[in-house]
Amino acid sequence: MSHQPVIDGLEFAKSSSKLQGAWPVAEFLRLHDVLHSTAGTLRYELRGVPEERGRPVLRLKIDGSLQLLCQRCLGAFEFPLHMEVSLRLAATQFEVDAEPLDAEGPESILAGNEMRVQALVEDEVLLAMPIAPRHPACASSAADAAGRKQTPFAGLRGLIGSTKH
Ligand SMILES: [Zn+2]
Repeated sequence: MSHQPVIDGLEFAKSSSKLQGAWPVAEFLRLHDVLHSTAGTLRYELRGVPEERGRPVLRLKIDGSLQLLCQRCLGAFEFPLHMEVSLRLAATQFEVDAEPLDAEGPESILAGNEMRVQALVEDEVLLAMPIAPRHPACASSAADAAGRKQTPFAGLRGLIGSTKH
């Protein structure tokens, strides 16, 4: 049986718990659509923080790489993934909705007593995926053409930030 940890979010944060592990990329079914190949492994490290700016927080670190297809030259390339996010835990959905939408700030999620760690990792990886993946070289020539710079992590958060103004 594969590694399927489930945590009680608030309890995990309050007790400063730690958890780490790894999964083959192939196990992340929701990523399959955007992958060129399911080769590779994603490692994670999850840490509970009892209080950060008034809220319990889960700090999630993800390392690994994904095999993507460049949308410019259609060549396969390796997309390195090294991210660390803070997830502020909210006790109710009302609290989550009441948070101002801030692309720069930590994301709020609903705390549950049976949170699947693999789903948390998958959510964050999906958010970090580029909308139109490109080789670094293809990305910079495309950026010249478009007159703007595309970062490798231009995902949903970037979009939220750019539509806010
Ligand atoms: Zn390319």
